[in-house]
Amino acid sequence: MNSELLRQYLGYYQDLGVRTLYRRKTTLAGPGPARLESLEQIQQDLGDCRRCRLHAGRTKIVFGVGNPRAKLVFVGEGPGADEDAQGLPFVGRAGQLLTQMIEGTARREGIALERKDVYICNVVKCRPPENRTPEPDEMEICGQFLFRQLAALNPKAICALGATAVKALLGRKEGVTRMRGNWYKWREIPVMVTYHPSYLLRPYNQNAKREAWEDLKKALHYVYD
Ligand code: URA
Repeated sequence: MNSELLRQYLGYYQDLGVRTLYRRKTTLAGPGPARLESLEQIQQDLGDCRRCRLHAGRTKIVFGVGNPRAKLVFVGEGPGADEDAQGLPFVGRAGQLLTQMIEGTARREGIALERKDVYICNVVKCRPPENRTPEPDEMEICGQFLFRQLAALNPKAICALGATAVKALLGRKEGVTRMRGNWYKWREIPVMVTYHPSYLLRPYNQNAKREAWEDLKKALHYVYD
């Protein structure tokens, strides 16, 4: 409310004969714990999103999937063709590899964990044309929803899959090869950086595959030990 409007209000109450006003503590703003929204509320707010150009080519919005109480969240880049068709993240070839990595590593390390126990989402929620890398403005707009998802989930750790996730979460452009296997932070939440599963599908990257299993092992022990 601006001062002129306030003056008018006060004049109105004065004319009514009101001589004393009491200040009530406002609940709308001010310090205190932020009210946490649910994933459903965030998805509802996302709605039939047309906030950036990516909406034009999508079939389905890929919001995210998994346990809303997950202790570990995986963040990829954006939906591919299979994900766009099904509305679910990581269901194509890269997704099958991710599932194998999560469940295979957990099994070998004696951790009872299935894909459905973690949460999986992407930086952008609509498929970029020709699977191109998302543009900075698309990441900026959609990233706000990713951040709200992560705040709502509040996991013990996040696993950033590939350069786009690293850039969105950590604001860093240096190569995943340099950063992988190390812990960083998104707000107060530890972030493990590793390769994107699509990169690991290329036959000449088998060494990277071994490294990614190691990174995942670290993340799983940190979260579930
Ligand atoms: N690649 C991604 O980054 N995300 C998906 O959901 C699928 C493939």
